[in-house]
Amino acid sequence: MEDEFAIQSFKPTLSANLAFQRKLLPIFKYRESLLYAIETFQVTLLHGHTGCGKTTQLPQYLYETGWTKEGKIIGCTQPRRLVARSVASRVSEELKTEVGKTCGYKIQFEHNVSSETKIEYMTDGSLLKEILTDPLLERYSVIMIDEVHERTVNIDLLLGILKRILLKRPDLRVILASASANIQKLNNFFYEQDKINTNIISVEGKLYPVDVMYLENPTENYVNTAVETVLNINSSYPSGDILVFLTDRREVDECVKRIEAFSVTTPEDLPMLVPLPLYSGLTMDEQLRVFDIYEQRFRKVIFCTNIAEASVTIDGIVYVIDSGLCKLRIFNPYSRISKLIRVPISKSNAIQRTGRAGRTNPGKCFRLFPKNVYDSLKDESDAEISHTDMLPVVLFLKSIGLRNINQFPFFVPPPTVHIIAALEDLYFLGAIDDYSNLTDPTGFQMVELPLDARLSKALLSSATYDCTYAMLNIVSVVMAGDVFYRPARNHHEATACHATFITEEGDILTCLNVLESFLVRKKDMKWCKTNFLNYNTLNHASEIRRHILPYLQRFRISPERRLTDTGSSKIIECLLQGFFRNVAHLQDDGSYKTISGSPVWIDQKSTMNNKNIPWIMFTSMVEYEGRAFINGITKIESKWLEKFYNRKK
Ligand code: ADP
Ligand code: MG
Repeated sequence: MEDEFAIQSFKPTLSANLAFQRKLLPIFKYRESLLYAIETFQVTLLHGHTGCGKTTQLPQYLYETGWTKEGKIIGCTQPRRLVARSVASRVSEELKTEVGKTCGYKIQFEHNVSSETKIEYMTDGSLLKEILTDPLLERYSVIMIDEVHERTVNIDLLLGILKRILLKRPDLRVILASASANIQKLNNFFYEQDKINTNIISVEGKLYPVDVMYLENPTENYVNTAVETVLNINSSYPSGDILVFLTDRREVDECVKRIEAFSVTTPEDLPMLVPLPLYSGLTMDEQLRVFDIYEQRFRKVIFCTNIAEASVTIDGIVYVIDSGLCKLRIFNPYSRISKLIRVPISKSNAIQRTGRAGRTNPGKCFRLFPKNVYDSLKDESDAEISHTDMLPVVLFLKSIGLRNINQFPFFVPPPTVHIIAALEDLYFLGAIDDYSNLTDPTGFQMVELPLDARLSKALLSSATYDCTYAMLNIVSVVMAGDVFYRPARNHHEATACHATFITEEGDILTCLNVLESFLVRKKDMKWCKTNFLNYNTLNHASEIRRHILPYLQRFRISPERRLTDTGSSKIIECLLQGFFRNVAHLQDDGSYKTISGSPVWIDQKSTMNNKNIPWIMFTSMVEYEGRAFINGITKIESKWLEKFYNRKK
């Protein structure tokens, strides 16, 4: 296994003994008791440490014992797209079939399932969407909600919805799988409140001991300390890969670069470090590189965000370095701004991270903070529902017929101000009426579209503004990400190429220009390369476009380019229909103020940076070192705004 350079872990070399490996997993000993519990109880709460086999094995056990015989299927949800996809390929490999046959996956803008599929891995968001067309989820005999401990908004929503469904469908089985032992509350939610029969099973698995080490004094710069610790491990500790928990992609990219620079000068007697990034913004292929297996003279060092905390199992990790921090998106219901804030993790997160080092060997965990900081951490982190924008949740709950949002059996109720803000925004977007009912067709169509509500609104308004062709391209490219490739080495050359696409109206029409040129050139990869354009982003945008087209056809909105479909001011006015809250006005110091009074700065990457345009609209915002930076800037005229706000009154 180790005499080939960079073999993918899915390659056939491994599959010969896969059946044997499956039996070695800790969960295998529990196969019969799990199957009995699932047969007998409507809800099974399954706890087992990461890597014990919950995600890949349990759906297969159910498949093997006939849970799909009557035409129903087994569904397993994941909080992350990467995991849904990589697990489906792992399980398909174990089943000796191609992905999309017996086992497939469904993630946003990408489906790989067929009529033969019996085990479907999907994101929790995908399962929520299915409830719109299959309210009792009758396609499924068993639904496993994985990583319940993560308590994302989607997981919380599914818990409430599944409870309602279980009361109506005694044949349905639900498995709630968690890497954290704290599952008593879930038991209360189903059994104490509604007498739905539950059973708890804990998979005891062997984890090797992990030595935990702390810093004596707090570090001023944990990124520097992380890099130093990696180098220290490489020069003083025996072989074994390293996993480093940081907070965001900026830090991850920086560390990867620093280790790359170092690797060139690695002394001959030390293993050569192979730095790899792992965060959700990477393409699937880039993400899957962390599973590659290297020769012994190399040492993998994976820099990740909390994506690798529980759902991804990378074999061979012996050393964990933990910054003790993570980023959370915190929504402010007054300004309607979501900020990514760096916060201390909980004890439960820290323990999970530590456990990543002891899967295959005894390991070491270097916590980049003193012991007393650990003692002061919260036991569990707050559920996402307590600090996130409720607009998509309220829209969804309206669509399943809830007049009063408080009627929903929330596992933990969201703050009332968040609900009020969401209702207000939905009203202004025209998704709900004076009686708080979903509007027909706008509200119903917004629920269906797999887009942010503001983009949906702009797209749905485009028929009135005669700009559907352009708006379809705009929403696709905005969803896809940054179209420009900006290598540090050829900075000037790249900027010169990009300049040829830039429109005076701003970033959004510039991106539209790039995407339309890309489509005209039949997605030419070489053309992207010579023009310093991001091929993956553009290709993804064209996939999204293809995915959205059928919705427009169903809504009878014609996406054909029309003769009148050219005026940029119409396009911008149409965008404003969705983004009317994302408007800002220039201040004397060059910053901007949003309509709710928050100060923001134009991101350096924006083509509208330093142009001093009085009124602008933006599509995204990120927070960096206490400042909010906006991007996706478009020049607007204040008179459009007056017209718009007067009409709303
Ligand atoms: P759990 O869900 O309990 O964390 P999994 O079912 O994901 O556990 O993983 C079980 C085992 O399968 C892991 O210990 C790992 O060895 C192996 N495995 C899972 N996914 C992959 C993969 N993509 N590549 C290689 N091995 C994998
Ligand atoms: Mg798992």
